[in-house]
Amino acid sequence: MEDHVTPRRVVIIGGGFAGLFAARALRHAPAAVTVVDRRPHHLFQPLLYQCASGILSEGQIAQPLRTVLRRHHNVNCLLAEATDVDPGAKTVRARRPDGGLLELPYDDLIVAVGMRQSYFGHDEFAAHAPGMKTLDDALGIRRRIYQAFEMAETATDPRERRRWLTFALVGGGPTGVELAGQIREIAGHTLDREFRAVDSAEARVLLFEGSEAVLGAFGPRLAERAARTLRDLGVEIHLGTTVTGVDANGLTVKDGNGASTHFPAHTVLWTAGVEAPPVAAALARATGAEQDRAGRIAVEPDLTLPGHPDIRVTGDVMGLDRLPGLAEVAMQTGAYAGRAVRHSIEGRKKRPKPFKYVDLGSAAYICRGRAVVKAGPVHLSGRTGWLAWLLIHLVFLTGFRSRFGALLSWAVVFASGSRRERAFTMPDREPSPDPPAGRKPPATSS
Ligand SMILES: Cc1cc2nc3c(=O)[nH]c(=O)nc-3n(C[C@H](O)[C@H](O)[C@H](O)COP(=O)(O)OP(=O)(O)OC[C@H]3O[C@@H](n4cnc5c(N)ncnc54)[C@H](O)[C@@H]3O)c2cc1C
Repeated sequence: MEDHVTPRRVVIIGGGFAGLFAARALRHAPAAVTVVDRRPHHLFQPLLYQCASGILSEGQIAQPLRTVLRRHHNVNCLLAEATDVDPGAKTVRARRPDGGLLELPYDDLIVAVGMRQSYFGHDEFAAHAPGMKTLDDALGIRRRIYQAFEMAETATDPRERRRWLTFALVGGGPTGVELAGQIREIAGHTLDREFRAVDSAEARVLLFEGSEAVLGAFGPRLAERAARTLRDLGVEIHLGTTVTGVDANGLTVKDGNGASTHFPAHTVLWTAGVEAPPVAAALARATGAEQDRAGRIAVEPDLTLPGHPDIRVTGDVMGLDRLPGLAEVAMQTGAYAGRAVRHSIEGRKKRPKPFKYVDLGSAAYICRGRAVVKAGPVHLSGRTGWLAWLLIHLVFLTGFRSRFGALLSWAVVFASGSRRERAFTMPDREPSPDPPAGRKPPATSS
C-alpha cells in the first residue's frame, strides 16, 4: 500500500554535474532527497587546469554543495563516501570522514559518482605523475609547477636545473593540451623577469600522446590547428608514444618503432585514462549489472539498471551508446534521471521516453586568445574559438559570483599575462637534529 505521509526517499550518490542536475530536477517533487558526496563541494572540473595554473582560485571553481542547493528545501547534503549498495534492503552504506558508518534507506537511487584517474594498470606511476580530477589534485599541481621554477633557481648543477625546468604531460586530450599551453604561458609571460639565475622562458614542455593527434576527438582540422598553436607556443609534441616508466627523475617512453627514450623531468603530470571508482564495482556485484573495461555501468535506454527500475546511473560512470565523458552528458543524464523519478512520484503511468543526448559540442582552451570549439558542423579555432569558449564557460559556471570573478580574472590574464592565484603551501620541515658535517653549531653567549 502507498504511504502518503512519508515522502519518497531519493538518494543521489555524487554531487558533480549529474548529481546536481538530478537534485535540481527534484526541487518541487514531494520527495526527501539526500545527496551524499565524499567531498563537501560541487566542482567545475573543466576549469581545474585554470586553478592549477594560478588563473582562478579554488573558490571560483568549487562551491559548497549545501550552498548551491540551499534553496532546495527538500534536499539534504551529507559528507560521506558511499561504499556499497544493498538493492534487497534498499540501502546505501556510506563512510563518514572519521570512519563512522551510515545507512541511507532509499526508494529511488541515482548513482552519479563520475570517474577517477586511471594509470592503465601502472598505479605505481601515480606517486610521481599525479592526475587532475579533484581540487586537491589541482592545488598539488599548482605547487609542483611553481615550486619547480623555485628549485631551478637554486639548483647549482646545470643538469639538475634543466630537469627542474622540464615539464612532461602524458595525454593529448583537452586536459593535457590545456595544461601544456598554460605551463608555456607561465614560463614565457607570467614569470617573465621574476627569476635571477634562470630564464623561465627556457622551460621545456613535453606532451606525450599515444594516438597520432592531439585533441583527436575534435576532428583532423581542429586537431591540426591545435597542434600548430601548441608548437608555436613552444610545446614539444610526441605522438604515437607509450609511457613505460615514471620515477622522480623523469619518464621513459616507447615510440611506434619500439625504441625507448628516457626524458629527464622532475614534473610529470598524468591526464590519460579514466576508471570507475570502487563503489561502481560494488553496485555491479550487488545488482548483476555489466561494466565495460573502464568500469562504466551498462544501463537501459531510460538509464535504469536491468531488473532494477528504482536504480538509475548517470554521468561519466554510465555506459550508454558510447556517450563521451563530458559535462553536458552528465548534466543531461542527471536532469533526465531526476525528472523520471519526479514523474514516477507524481504517479504518471507513461514510461519515460528513452534518454536522447543533445550534442551541444565541446571546447578546449589552448592559450590566451586561442581555443578550439566543435559544435556539430560548426568548427571554430583561434580568436573566435576563444570567444565562444569564454561564452560557454560563463554560461555554465555555477553561481553569479563565480562567473563575475572568473570574468575579471580572465580579463587580467588576457590583458597582462599575470596570474593572481599563484600561492601554494609548503609543509614545514622538521629542523635537522645534527648540524651538517664540518659545521659547528653557533656559539651561545652566557
Ligand atoms: C581536468 C578535467 C577537464 C575537463 N574538461 C572538460 C571540458 O572541457 N568539457 C567537458 O564537457 N567536460 C570536461 N571534463 C569532463 C567533465 O568534467 C565530466 O564529464 C563531468 O564532471 C562528469 O560529471 P559527473 O557528475 O558524472 O561526475 P563528477 O563531476 O566527477 O562528479 C562525481 C562526484 O561524485 C563524488 N563521488 C565519487 N565517488 C563517490 C562515492 N563513493 N561516494 C560519494 N561521492 C562520490 C565525487 O566526489 C564527485 O563530486 C573534464 C574533466 C576533468 C577532470
